[in-house]
Amino acid sequence: MRILISGASIAGPVLAYWLARHNFSVTVVERAAAPRKTGGHAVDLFRPAMDISEKMGVLARIEARTTGTSRLALVPEGGRPVRVDLSTIFGAASDRHAEIMRDDLSEIYYEAARDDVEYLFGDSITAISPDGDVRFERAAPRRFDVIVGADGLHSTVRRLVFGDETRFSTSTGAYLAVLTLPDMTGVDGELRIHVGVGRTAGMYRAQHLGDARALFLFRSEHPLDYHHHDVPRQKELLRAAFTGVNPEVQHWLDALDGTGPFYFDSITQLRMDTWSRGRVTLVGDAGYCPGPAVGGSTSLAVVGAYVLAGELARAGGDPERAFPAYERAMAEHVRGSHAVGLSAAKTLIPASRLGVRGLAQGTRLLSALPPGLGRVFLRLTTKSARFHNSMTVDDYPSPPRQRSTA
Ligand SMILES: Cc1cc2nc3c(=O)[nH]c(=O)nc-3n(C[C@H](O)[C@H](O)[C@H](O)COP(=O)(O)OP(=O)(O)OC[C@H]3O[C@@H](n4cnc5c(N)ncnc54)[C@H](O)[C@@H]3O)c2cc1C
Repeated sequence: MRILISGASIAGPVLAYWLARHNFSVTVVERAAAPRKTGGHAVDLFRPAMDISEKMGVLARIEARTTGTSRLALVPEGGRPVRVDLSTIFGAASDRHAEIMRDDLSEIYYEAARDDVEYLFGDSITAISPDGDVRFERAAPRRFDVIVGADGLHSTVRRLVFGDETRFSTSTGAYLAVLTLPDMTGVDGELRIHVGVGRTAGMYRAQHLGDARALFLFRSEHPLDYHHHDVPRQKELLRAAFTGVNPEVQHWLDALDGTGPFYFDSITQLRMDTWSRGRVTLVGDAGYCPGPAVGGSTSLAVVGAYVLAGELARAGGDPERAFPAYERAMAEHVRGSHAVGLSAAKTLIPASRLGVRGLAQGTRLLSALPPGLGRVFLRLTTKSARFHNSMTVDDYPSPPRQRSTA
């Protein structure tokens, strides 16, 4: 039974690991020329994803690579900073949580299955026939029994099999940019956030990286007009959204003139009635992205990959039985993630002065409350983290580790 996965970031390598453990023969095709090592951005793993990582034997590596961000300094526009211990927040919402840079996590998952899986870097699928014939940009055509798109929000597999992305994407009206720049906070382990009406900017750095990330979230009343390859235009839109912002954030924005990695996209949710057609299915952001930076999508991608591999194993590799079972098992998690993603976007990018004040006062209250009370208050407010912490996942036993023979 030969299975092809497109994408080697988070969902792809986790799926590859578990399919190999269930003795399927697995090939992963990844457009990047090699495993990424630039860091990316910080992502969250909540309990179910941490449990799956533990079963994969990689938990210690993950814990050794966490970002080390332990404090939040929130600065409301025109107000004074409020500081709070982040472990209080996550401790109340999740009994098992790690924040780690995406590329570190990707590398850890990739290495867990590297010896049992065939990887094709620097290539991409160009065509998939209903009977499983696959064409690539570079590699020779091959036939697979099952093909999985784990190729992210702008998935090629989804476009080839289900049609244009615009049919499934719902804009939240918000935009997201990330800039890699020299560390300017000078404070270890602190996430510094400036919040204004319709715009939020933050800076953090992972303890083992020499540089920092500035994260910009903002709303626009009208859809912005830009091409996804037109970086100068994206930078112009970002500058315009943060006009008149306080000097510290302006200083971060000045780094836009440099050549550091830059990411810009709308915060989009993907909503599909089904993620499967014939022998093809989707996993992670490719199938059900709840919105980058707001919806806990990394945990969802890890859980989705584990469940899909388990259902394929349970069904003896038959996609007609496995895919509906996978979709049923994930439906509630996906619906919930979409809901908490929308609500997190509203909280993180307040639409009014009242919203900015509310966020600052909530944070101030947390920093002042005694630990017990603080935890109770947090349980009421950290909806997204609590949701992702409580996703229930079946156990899918796998045979002892061995090389695939199929
Ligand atoms: C700026 C930003 C901030 C974020 N912050 C958070 C956060 O705080 N917490 C959180 O949990 N999540 C966060 N996320 C989301 C998180 O990064 C994703 O949910 C997670 O990486 C999903 O993993 P994935 O494997 O499904 O897709 P992706 O990580 O998007 O990976 C897709 C992979 O497919 C590859 N690919 C794409 N096209 C092709 C092709 N044609 N052929 C072959 N390969 C291809 C890509 O190179 C990539 O390796 C953030 C995302 C962004 C962009």
